[in-house]
Amino acid sequence: MTLRIGFVGLGHMGGPMAANLVKAGHAVTGYDLAPAARTLAASRGVVIADSAAAAVAEAEVVLTMLPAGRHVLELYGELTKAASGALFVDCSTIAVGDARVAADLARTAGHRAVDAPVSGGVPGAEAGSLTFMVGGSDGEFAEAEPVLAAMGRKVVHCGGPGAGQAAKICNNMILGVSMIAVSEAFVLGERLGLSHQALFDVASTASGQCWALTSNCPVPGPVPASPANRDYRAGFAAALMAKDLGLAADAATATGARLELGVRAAELYASFAEGAGGVLDFSAIVTGLREGGAA
Ligand code: NAD
Repeated sequence: MTLRIGFVGLGHMGGPMAANLVKAGHAVTGYDLAPAARTLAASRGVVIADSAAAAVAEAEVVLTMLPAGRHVLELYGELTKAASGALFVDCSTIAVGDARVAADLARTAGHRAVDAPVSGGVPGAEAGSLTFMVGGSDGEFAEAEPVLAAMGRKVVHCGGPGAGQAAKICNNMILGVSMIAVSEAFVLGERLGLSHQALFDVASTASGQCWALTSNCPVPGPVPASPANRDYRAGFAAALMAKDLGLAADAATATGARLELGVRAAELYASFAEGAGGVLDFSAIVTGLREGGAA
């Protein structure tokens, strides 16, 4: 079924996601503050509107892919007034509380709403192979699912409003902590005279096996496709990992959950991402740890 989709936020993720919706046959009208993002999206079949409000005025589905919670909440005030009876789908990574406020804003204005953050990064957005984690009612999920399936390989209904964001920050906390654990293992192995390849050959087929080791290995050599082999060009930027771990740490404070490693990982990534490390792939934290601690 062809849908009229308004897409706001056509950056690294939103641009290719909008292009995949066009490929799937939907009529996509988009907007981004950045002229370069607008030009690129236009070249991929997105009709560019003069403003965010204009992009969603006729839309049956309103999609947003924005940097952070404040952008989503600011825009939702405007967009929920401009659209009439639409399904609002926010794919940005934001705090669980902000996602619930955004959904309330949409519902109060007579719309339906889900939070649907993603995993898979820019390559997954380009390939249409993202994983979506969705928070909303059964009816809202059923409506969002076919739209999201045009941009991803897996769409999981995680629960009510905010549950998608909860799954996202829990998953990325596993990733951040495990990347630090894998990096520390390589640093200790170096001190003990163990080659990277020997440690990889053992741990990748033993109980140390995990995605941080086998897909995004933080040292060059064992996994040719990992960013470590190209001077840690992202990939998934350390600044984004710092942001996601910050959301997890804030959620822990809000809920009283005690996260010994999650909070420490948030501190280490915040410190690493403050300097030049922020734009590097998050596996580059191994260099900070090798030099005597990232913080
Ligand atoms: P990005 O900075 O490339 O894109 C965000 C876009 O939003 C920018 O082009 C910006 O101009 C636009 N924007 C901001 N405010 C706007 C406004 N008021 N109106 C219109 N456009 C506006 O960021 P990204 O890498 O595409 O990430 C987007 C979201 O996806 C973030 O929440 C991020 O955490 C999440 N995410 C990113 C990745 C990744 O690998 N890049 C992976 C998973 C999730």
